[in-house]
Order: sequence, then C-alpha cells, then structure tokens
Amino acid sequence: MKVPYEVRKYCPHCNAPTTQKVKVASKGKASSFSFGNRKHARKLRGFGGKRAGQKEVKKQGKKQKLILTCTVCSKKQEWVCHKRTKKKTEVVKG
Ligand SMILES: [Zn+2]
Repeated sequence: MKVPYEVRKYCPHCNAPTTQKVKVASKGKASSFSFGNRKHARKLRGFGGKRAGQKEVKKQGKKQKLILTCTVCSKKQEWVCHKRTKKKTEVVKG
C-alpha cells in the first residue's frame, strides 16, 4: 500500500489541522528476558496441551501502523491504517 509523504491531519496538541510527516512504525527488538517472555517460556515447558502464542494459522493481511509527526509542534501521534494489506506499506514522496 502506498501512503503520501505528507498529509494534512488534525493535531490534538495544536488543536488544529496541520501538515504532518508520515513514517511507517517499526517494531523494536523484543527483550528475551522480560517478565512476559519468561512467563510464556515457563508455560510452554512440559506437558499440558496447547498454549497461547503457538499459532497454527498465519494471518494473511496486516493492519499497518503509521507515525505522524506534526511540522508545527513536532509531536508524534499514531495513525492506524484500517485497510488490511498483504503488500508492504511504503511512504511515497510528492
Ligand atoms: Zn501540532
């Protein structure tokens, strides 16, 4: 899916519509020793059938999250694109 480089959207900090720069949000590296991950690893150990997190069916599409940066106050906000896309979202200039 193609997304424009700049969009004019409402900024809650400026309380007015402003031009905002668009960036595709990328996931940070997951820390393997966080509490949730340790808990999950504990659950997967041993017997006891299926557990959450072991998926059999992979999802085909993805709802892409975009980060908008206001050009006036340079604050960031999220913009979730509600179209499920199989193709990678790219930001297009112009
Ligand atoms: Zn703003």
